[in-house]
Amino acid sequence: MTNQVAKITVLSGDYIGPEIMKAGLAVLKAVSQDQFHYQIDEHPFGGAGIDQFGVPLPDETLSSAKQSDAVLLAAIGGPKWDDAPNRPEKGLLQIRQELNLFANIRPTSIRAAMQRYSPIKQVEPVNFVIVRELTSGIYFGKPREIDDTHAIDTMRYTVEEIRRVARVAFEMAMKRKRHVTMVDKANVLATSNLWRRVVAEVAADFPEVHYDTSYVDAAAMKIISAPEQFDVILTENMFGDILSDEAAEITGSLGTIPSMSRGTDGPALYEPIHGSAPDIAGKGIANPLSMINSVAMMLAHTFDRSDLADQISQSVDAVIDSGTVTPDLGGNATTNQVTNAIIQQIYERRHNYVENDVR
Ligand code: NAD
Repeated sequence: MTNQVAKITVLSGDYIGPEIMKAGLAVLKAVSQDQFHYQIDEHPFGGAGIDQFGVPLPDETLSSAKQSDAVLLAAIGGPKWDDAPNRPEKGLLQIRQELNLFANIRPTSIRAAMQRYSPIKQVEPVNFVIVRELTSGIYFGKPREIDDTHAIDTMRYTVEEIRRVARVAFEMAMKRKRHVTMVDKANVLATSNLWRRVVAEVAADFPEVHYDTSYVDAAAMKIISAPEQFDVILTENMFGDILSDEAAEITGSLGTIPSMSRGTDGPALYEPIHGSAPDIAGKGIANPLSMINSVAMMLAHTFDRSDLADQISQSVDAVIDSGTVTPDLGGNATTNQVTNAIIQQIYERRHNYVENDVR
C-alpha cells in the first residue's frame, strides 16, 4: 500500500458500536500521522441499516465494502430490532457471504499487562490464534428440517472449502511459531476424516510447520489446562464457534478482543468479538480496547504496518498497566479517558523515539 491511500469502510452499527468506533478511529488517526494515508467511507449496517433503508445490509453499504481495502465493524443488533422481520444479525451472514469471508481469525493473548484478568493462574504467557472455517459446515448444510418427531442438521464440507482455510492457517503459522493443531472429531465424524486427509496434504506444502491434530474434547480441556502449547488452531465452523468463545473466556476480558474474517482476495473485515452491549450503551463506559485492537490487527494484516500496530499494542499495555481501565476490567475510567490515554501514549512514544533518534 506504499504511496497509496487506503480505503476503509466503517460500519459503526448499533448501541455501543458508534461509541467504540469513535475511539478506534481516533486512535487510527493518532497513529497514522504522516505515516499512513487512508480514507474513511462510513455506512449504516445492522439495526442502523434497517432504520435507514429497511434492510441490515443496504446496497450502498455492500458496494462500499466491496470496493474497500478493509472493513472495520463495531457491533450490531439489540432489543430494538428483536421483532424485526429481517434481523440485524442477518446482515453479518450476508456480508460474510458477499465478501467470501471463509476464514475467521481470533487471537487469544494473555500478555503480562492482562494476566491478572484471566480466571486461570498462568505461569507462561498465552498467545495463540484460532482459524475457524466460517461459511460452511453444519450451520449451512442441507437438509435442515424439524417436525414433531425428528430434526436433521447436515454437516457437509468439500475438499476445496477445507483446503482454502487450511492454507490460511499454515500461512499464518509461518509468521508465528510454526505450529498448526487441527481440531476435529475424526474418531466419529466423516467430515473430520476428510479434514484430516486434506489438511495433511496442505501440511506437506509447509515442511517448516509442525503439524498435529487433537480431538475437540481434548482441545477444549487443553485450552484451560495448557493453553501455552498452542500456536495456530485450525478447525471447522461449529467447533471453532465454541472453542473461540472458550478461548475468549480464559483472557477474562471480552471487551478487549479483536477478530479478523478474510477470504482469498478482497477486503478483510475486522471487528470486536462481542456484541452491541445494549445494557451499557449511552453511559460512556464501553471498553474501547476491542475496537482499538481491531484497528491494530487491520494495520498489521491488511496494510502490512506491524510497526503502527505495535505502537498501538504497546500503548494499550501501558494504559492498562497504569490502571486507566473501564468498569468491565474493574476500573472507573470512561471510554473517552481510556482512548485519550492511549493517544497520549502514542504521542509520547513517538516523541521519545524521535528524540533518541536525533541523539
Ligand atoms: P454482548 O457481547 O453485547 O454483551 C455481553 C456482556 O458483555 C454485556 O454485559 C456487555 O455489557 C458486556 N460487554 C460487551 N462488550 C463490552 C465492551 N466493549 N465493554 C464493556 N462491556 C462489554 O452480548 P449480548 O448482550 O448477548 O448481545 C447484545 C446484542 O449484540 C444482541 O442483539 C446480539 O445478537 C448482538 N451480537 C452482535 C455481534 C456482532 O455484532 N458481531 C456479536 C454477538 C452478539
